[in-house]
Amino acid sequence: MNLVLMGLPGAGKGTQAEKIVEQYGIPHISTGDMFRAAMKEGTELGLKAKAYMDEGALVPDEVTIGIVRERLSKEDCENGFLLDGFPRTVPQAEALESILEGLNKKIDFVLNIDVDQSILMERLTGRRICKNCGATYHLVFNPPAVEGVCDRCGGELYQRADDNADTVQNRLDVNIKQSKPLLDFYTEKGYLRNIDGQREISEVFADIQTLLGGLK
Ligand SMILES: [Zn+2]
Repeated sequence: MNLVLMGLPGAGKGTQAEKIVEQYGIPHISTGDMFRAAMKEGTELGLKAKAYMDEGALVPDEVTIGIVRERLSKEDCENGFLLDGFPRTVPQAEALESILEGLNKKIDFVLNIDVDQSILMERLTGRRICKNCGATYHLVFNPPAVEGVCDRCGGELYQRADDNADTVQNRLDVNIKQSKPLLDFYTEKGYLRNIDGQREISEVFADIQTLLGGLK
């Protein structure tokens, strides 16, 4: 069960990743975790990546791809893996194809959790924080009893600059632009499966289970 997970910010990727890993016992391989592990182990590639990151520079593809190759070669990936956050570009996706070929594996599915932009905006801009005690709320998922007022301490709720509509829209635009060629690449390969992410968490996961049930 070799999977790649895709989805825009707010699509619920993290939640579904957790459920997939729990249900199928395959490792969740996120780019961040992979980098941290390689650095901690002090592998040659890990140290290289650290040197770039310490300088605030982007880690070059050859280093990232090397780390992915090392990670996917580990024993715990024998029965499968869930890649999350890699690949981000078509060249990275091509590199992944060749890594897997070398390991005698192939991707089964690229799961794309699909959610309308308007809903993502609602999810991503709804967070409110108490000025006084720092408690967090969400206008849709966890609203305060009285609009704009903290349930705990009566403090005033505000929206962080990161969560405002312009910033969020910009973040979505960047992500959409970046993921489009990748989605096209995986569509052409026949790996892409769109999952409707606009429903309850359990319903989304049920769809994933139906899809993955056909694998084994
Ligand atoms: Zn408060």
